[in-house]
Amino acid sequence: MAVAATSLSEDFGTMMLYKAEQLNLVGCHVCGLVSEAGAIGKRCPRCHSPLHRRKHNSLVHTWALLVAAMALYIPANIQPVMYTQMLGSRTESTIMAGIMEFWKLGSWDIAVIIFIASVVVPCFKFIVLITLSVSVKLHSAWAMRERAKLYRITEFIGYWSMLDVVVVALVSALVKFKALSDIEPRMGILYFGLVVILTMLSAMSFDPRLIWDYKEHNESGQR
Ligand SMILES: [Zn+2]
Repeated sequence: MAVAATSLSEDFGTMMLYKAEQLNLVGCHVCGLVSEAGAIGKRCPRCHSPLHRRKHNSLVHTWALLVAAMALYIPANIQPVMYTQMLGSRTESTIMAGIMEFWKLGSWDIAVIIFIASVVVPCFKFIVLITLSVSVKLHSAWAMRERAKLYRITEFIGYWSMLDVVVVALVSALVKFKALSDIEPRMGILYFGLVVILTMLSAMSFDPRLIWDYKEHNESGQR
C-alpha cells in the first residue's frame, strides 16, 4: 500500500512538471483558454486574440516603455506640478518642493503619501522591471520564485500608482474651498501621469513565464 501511495505521489510529482509545450498545448494570453499547439500563429477560438507561446517581443516592448517612462520621470520632477496662491504669494512647486511645503505646514501625512506615490513607488518599479528584464535576458536561474513574486507585487502596486495624481487633484479641490488660497495643477503632473501609464504598460508587456524558461531549457538539456 505504502509503495503504491509513494509511486502515485511520484507520478503526480512528475505530472506536475509537464510543460504546456510538452503536452502540445498553448494558453491564450488574454482569456487563458488552452488550445492545441498547432493553433500557434492563429487566433484564439474564444476571444480572437493571436496565439503565441510567449507574449510577442515581450522584452523589447518592456524595455521601450520602461526607457520612455524613465525619460519622462525627469521632466515630471523638474517641471512644476502645481501652482499655489496663498495670501498674495504665488508659487509654482515641483514634486519635491511640494512635499517639503506640506511637511513644513504640518501636513506630514500628505507629504509622506506624495513621497511614497511619486518617488518610492516609481523608483521601485523601475528597479524591479530593470532587474527582471536583465535577468531574463541573461537566462539567469537566480531567485526565480522571488523574481516571480516581485513581478506580482509590481503588477499589484500598478493599480495604486495613480494615487499621486489623485492626491494633487484632491488637495486642489480641498484648498479651493478656502477662498483665501488657490491651487492649480501644472505640466509636471501630466508628465507624471504619463510615467505611471508607461510603467504600467511596461509591466504588462513583461511575460513572467520568461523567468521559468531558463529552467525548462536546463531540464530539457539534461534529458
Ligand atoms: Zn483567448
